[in-house]
Order: sequence, then C-alpha cells, then structure tokens
Amino acid sequence: METFKRILAYAKPWRRYWPGYLALSIFSVIFGIANYALLGPFLTVLFESDTIPQTVARPEFSFSIQYVNDLFSYFLSSIAASGGVVKALLFVSLSLIVACFFSDVCRYFSQRILVSMKTSLMKNIRRDLYSKIASLDIGYFNNRKKGDILSSISNDVNEVQNSVASSFHVMFREPLLVVGFLVMLFYMSPRLTAVSLIALPISALIVTRITRKLRRDSVETQSLMGQILSQYEEAISGSRIIKAFNARKYVENRFERYNERHRKVSKQVSNRQELASPTSEFLGISIAALVLFYGGWLNFNGNLGMTWPQFIVYIGFYWKVLEPAKAMANSFAAVQKGIVSGERIFEILDASSDIKEDPDPLPLTSFRHSIEYRNVSFRYTDEPVLKEISFIIPKGKMVAIVGPSGAGKSTLDDLLPRFWDVTGGSIELDGVDIRRYKITDLISQMGIVTQEPILFNDSIANNISFGMENVTQEQIEDAAKIANAHEFILQTEQGYQTNIGDRGTKLSGGQRQRIAIARAVLKNPPILILDEATSALDTESERLVQEALSNLMKYRTSLVIAHRLSTIRHADEIIVLQNGIIVERGDHDTLINNHGLYSHLCELQAFT
Ligand code: ADP
Repeated sequence: METFKRILAYAKPWRRYWPGYLALSIFSVIFGIANYALLGPFLTVLFESDTIPQTVARPEFSFSIQYVNDLFSYFLSSIAASGGVVKALLFVSLSLIVACFFSDVCRYFSQRILVSMKTSLMKNIRRDLYSKIASLDIGYFNNRKKGDILSSISNDVNEVQNSVASSFHVMFREPLLVVGFLVMLFYMSPRLTAVSLIALPISALIVTRITRKLRRDSVETQSLMGQILSQYEEAISGSRIIKAFNARKYVENRFERYNERHRKVSKQVSNRQELASPTSEFLGISIAALVLFYGGWLNFNGNLGMTWPQFIVYIGFYWKVLEPAKAMANSFAAVQKGIVSGERIFEILDASSDIKEDPDPLPLTSFRHSIEYRNVSFRYTDEPVLKEISFIIPKGKMVAIVGPSGAGKSTLDDLLPRFWDVTGGSIELDGVDIRRYKITDLISQMGIVTQEPILFNDSIANNISFGMENVTQEQIEDAAKIANAHEFILQTEQGYQTNIGDRGTKLSGGQRQRIAIARAVLKNPPILILDEATSALDTESERLVQEALSNLMKYRTSLVIAHRLSTIRHADEIIVLQNGIIVERGDHDTLINNHGLYSHLCELQAFT
C-alpha cells in the first residue's frame, strides 16, 4: 500500500484528476444503464405493442428511477397514440442512439483524463529516474546489471502507469457500474435478485484464486526481462569483441538460456490470464442460466411480477453486472503487477549514495597551495587496493603515477574527485579534507581526461562544451586549437556541428582524445587528472596528442597516470606503485639511477 501511495504521488496532482473522472464516469454509467433499459420498451413496441397504455398522465417530478421510467412511458404512449407503432419504434430507436452517444462521449472524456494523468506520471517517474541515475555514485553501477536498470526504465514505468489507470477503474468506475446495475436489478425484482446474488461471490472467489499466483510469476518475468536487456546491451556495446573472438555461438547460447526461461515463465503467466477469462465467462453463463430458470419458474407460478421484455432486460443487467466485476478482478491483477514494478523503481530511486556530502559543506572557490594524500587506503571489496599512500602535489607541479597494470593507479586518481571515498586516511586540499567541501565545488576545480575518452552522441561543439553554460563558438574553437583539434574538426563534414556517433565511434582514437582535451581546456580548471591512453597511436597522432596535453598542463597542477613513460620525464615527482603500495619515488633521473622497478619499466619500453 505504501508503494502504491508513492506511485499515486507521481500522478500529482491526482486530486485534480479524480473529480472530473468521477463525474464523467457517473454520467457514462447512467447513460449506459439507460441504454440497456431501453431494450425493454424496444421489445414491447416490437412484440407487445398492444400493451402500450393509451393515455398516461405526465408524471410529477421526483429524483428517482420511477420518474424517469414514467416520463419515458408518457412520451412513448403519447407518440404511439398520435403517430402509431412505427413512430413509437422510431422514438425508442432514437432514444437508444442518444443514450449510447452520451454514454460513450462521457467515457471518452473520462479516458482522456486518465491518459493525461498516465502520461504525466510516466514523465515524472522517468525524470526522477534519470536524475537519480545521473547522480548515483560510481560504486552503485559496480554492483548492478545495466539491463536491470534499463528494464526498470522501460517496462516497469509502463507497468506502473497501467496500474495507476487500472486503480482508477477499480476505485471509481467499476464499483459505480456494479452499484448502478445492482440498483436496477433490485428495483426490477428484489426477490429474484436477492436469491441469485448469492451466486456472485462464489464465482468471484474462483476467479481471484486463479489470478493470485500471477503476482509472483510476474515478478520473475520482469527480472528475467532485465537480464535479457543486459545481454542485448552487451551485444551492442561489445559487438567488436564478440566478432573478434568468434564468440557469437557462446553469447547466443547464453542468451538463449535466459530467453527460454523467460518464455516458460511468461507462458505460465499468460496461460493463467487466459484461464481467468473463459472460467469467468463459463461461471457467468451458468449463473445467468440459473437466474433464467428461476425467473421462468416464478413466471409460470405467476410470481415474477415482470413482463417478458422486462425479464429480458433484467437478464441483460444481470449479465452486465458480471462484467465490471470481472474487470475489477483484472484491474486488481494489473495493480499488483504495477506495485511489483513500482517497488523495483523505488529501489533505484531510494538507493543511497555512498558518497555523502557534508551536512554543512565548505565552499571552495579557488585552489591555493597543495593537494595531499595522507596515509590513504582503499578497498573495493575485501582486498585492499591501496595501502597507506602519502604524497603531496604542490600547486603548479606535476606528479606522475606509474606502475604495472592493476597496481591501483586509476583507483588513486578516482579518489581525488570523490568518485570513491577513501576507506582509510584522507585526502586534503589546501589543508582541508576534501570530504568537507561541497562536492560540486570540489569537482569544478578539476578537469579529468580519462583513458578512454567519454564522448556523447552529439555534435563536436556540444561534446567540447559539455555541461558548461554560456559558451561561445569562439571559446570552443580556441579550446580546440590549444588541443590540436581545430584542423581535423574543420575537415569533418559539418565542422563543429558534425555528430560524432555513439561514444564518438566516427572519430579515430587520437581525435577522440583531443576532443576530450579540448573539453578540459575549455573548462580551464586549476587541477588536472590525466589518465593517459594506453591504446597505441601512430607517431603523428601521438605527437599531436602529446602536444595538446602539454598545452593543457601548462600552469596547472596535475596528477598524471602515465603509460608511455617518455611523457613524464619532466614530472616533478614520479611515484611508482605496485600492488597498492609506493615502491619508489623521485624524479626521472633519480629513479633511473636507482635501477629499480621504474628503470626496469623504462627498459621494457626501450626508453633511454
Ligand atoms: P591500474 O589503474 O593500476 O591498472 P586499478 O586502480 O584499475 O589499477 O585497479 C586496482 C585493483 O582494483 C585491481 O586489482 C582491480 O581488479 C581492482 N578494481 C578496479 N576497479 C574495481 C571495481 N570497480 N570494483 C572492484 N575492484 C576493482
């Protein structure tokens, strides 16, 4: 119920919607009942026209079914008296059309209210999900499958909106219909209705038994769907690797297992759903047949108190009362499914971030003197990845981190912008723990260029100015010039407006890096975090990237992970990391003379 309330809160202001919906539903129900009721006079005119009374006095107004009934009889008899049976038939037919028209118009407009509620609900949930996902810390995605999140965004949001629509039917429309028809049934024959109604709860019980298991199964189908989407996502983003390793058969088989499991469970769900409908129909017909029999029996004994046309209308109403009851059972199932989906969505929305902002954060407007790693330790899981690391980067200096793969270099980098928080020790900026600063302030002091530049499916200009506001074309071009990117950008089809494809696939590795560097140049932060690309570039492109990096680092404080050791020769301090501890430190010449790991790594790169 809590979940459901939260879902409804997204349809805000749903209180604005329901009065209109309710009013229109009431009218639609009234006209709908009139529709059926008109069947009686229709049959009377057709088969028993001699029973139409010759003169009926105009009834006194009162707010009752009786009044409406009498008014109709009055018109019918006066038309029959003056114009004959054909005119009476025409009158009844026209009344039928009018009632049907109003009933459907009201229903249509009530549906429109639902649609506008559903769409705004969907929009609100998607907006919140997006902003949550964009704000979640990196650790969250470490532990979760992308497909589960994508499935929540696509399927669960849909389920939720359907369930809210269903809930409106359950709360307002269907009960109204049931009540409306029941009132008519009692009005027409209290005795018959009282007896036959006993059968209704029995059939309702049977139908709900069938639908009860639906909820559990639908939970499973949705989680399987998440896994299937995960696999699709991997097939799209990893298509190069799948081909390169001839792994198509392998991934196809893996996919097939999930797919088959999903098929089985959704088959169960559908079978159950399909069973619900014929069962309730069979029960409905059986009950109607019983009523028919009982009514007929009463009639033979002269106790029915209805004419034959009235009795047929009565059966019609009885038939109709089952329909909203069935619809209610279905809507309940939909609401249940929606709640399951809602829970999955709220699980994402409620995920708490491990990276917490200080309740009373300090502002950070400028970087003054130094960054200090003080006995920093870190672990992702149980294994420590960094152990007691300490070093200082004075303002304007460059510290380079080198070491074999898996040594913890990227992790060390990620701690500075608080992508992760240290598990031991602290990192200080100008003598204050970085956890004390406002996170956005902290990050705005830093520019980050990662190994695999993160580019977005957008124009080159927008990729360079990414996230920055009020940037002129001129500033973008200046940044691109410093990053050695201007020339090649001009050569692309639409220059700065060229779309670079998903993750920049339309560009070469070196070009992607230079775009990322231009982005950092434009942001112009005092602190730079560079994770040099490992992918080999050709000499010319490497020269261009190198030059761009040097331009970028000029006058800045930088923490650089170097893979090509030639680039860090001039670093003020080189820190050699192995298995999470500092094994050597010093400038290039000192380390070479040490004949330790650094000089060994240099030899490996044939660097002298
Ligand atoms: P380097 O950049 O020097 O290659 P990393 O900092 O990437 O090293 O990784 C250091 C260690 O941390 C490795 O053993 C790696 O397996 C582990 N590691 C890296 N990222 C994660 C992560 N997101 N979750 C768990 N372990 C990780």
